[in-house]
Amino acid sequence: RQQNLLQQAGLPAETTDGHRVRLLANVDLLHEIEDAHRAGAEGVGLFRSEFLFMQTAPLLPDEEAQYQVYRKLVEGFPGQVVTIRTYDLGGKKLAREVLGQLEANPALGLRGVRLSLARPDFFRTQLRALLRVAGEFPGQVRVMVPMVGHLEEVRTVKVMLERLRHELEEEGKATPPELALGAMVEVPAAALLAEHFARELAFLSIGTNDLTQYTLAVDRANRELARTYRPLHPAVLRLIERVITAGRRAGIPVSLCGELAADPIAVPVLLGLGLTEFSMHPPALPVVRSLIRAISFADAKRIARRALSMASAKEVEEFLWEIVAGLL
Ligand code: PEP
Ligand code: MG
Repeated sequence: RQQNLLQQAGLPAETTDGHRVRLLANVDLLHEIEDAHRAGAEGVGLFRSEFLFMQTAPLLPDEEAQYQVYRKLVEGFPGQVVTIRTYDLGGKKLAREVLGQLEANPALGLRGVRLSLARPDFFRTQLRALLRVAGEFPGQVRVMVPMVGHLEEVRTVKVMLERLRHELEEEGKATPPELALGAMVEVPAAALLAEHFARELAFLSIGTNDLTQYTLAVDRANRELARTYRPLHPAVLRLIERVITAGRRAGIPVSLCGELAADPIAVPVLLGLGLTEFSMHPPALPVVRSLIRAISFADAKRIARRALSMASAKEVEEFLWEIVAGLL
């Protein structure tokens, strides 16, 4: 069956009534580029740049080393979009190595963009490497910032990018006239204010792993709470809906790159809410593509409305299981 699904890798992710979405790959390491192509990915929706650091810790890779990796990544997807996320360090990701200490409450601490802005030197190095690659592959590179909760964080990154662009120009290096800057929406505050973020950014990408953790106040890695950590909780769905609607009104793409994008039962509801890009680890792409191709957008919209009106995660999950069982 997997073989059959892989044979459909070249077919468009299109519903039976002609609604087209884009299927992208989450890529953490360069050797996954092949898998992404085999599964028919149309580009990269999430490259977790902090993985680079795992090979060089406790030192951060310098500008040249980063430039080489980003370049290889973009070259691996000719003519396709490649979304590179700036470091999401801190929290539980290499916090001791970067901060030199552990915080009392790391999930609510100096992580993601907060850490990058608190250590502007290492952030500048990363932004320079990203601008150089974006300058060489115009229109292909998107950059996104993790863990934003305040509009000022995005504005500060924009000011830094503009300054660095001038700096690089003075050095005679190619820079993009405009860099597509987006944000991960994974803090409930950003989801609630999505229309404001959407006005100032080129795209949004919903990070349901953290959005679920912060909305339900459940540690995403705590096994004892696995049954309480439910991305299909209607409270999370309502936030997702808000972000997608804000993106549509602002005329920008909205992607979802958390694990939820790869969950077969979530496909009809995410599709029906109007999500434009699904990004996931490559092995999950074939099943998601086949589900999208098996349903109509009209039905998906009805399913999404129904799910949004429900009162509990259990109710939503049971409803969606039934629908997806009928599609498989
Ligand atoms: C997310 O939070 O959903 C996400 C994609 O980012 P990460 O899993 O790297 O925190
Ligand atoms: Mg996250």
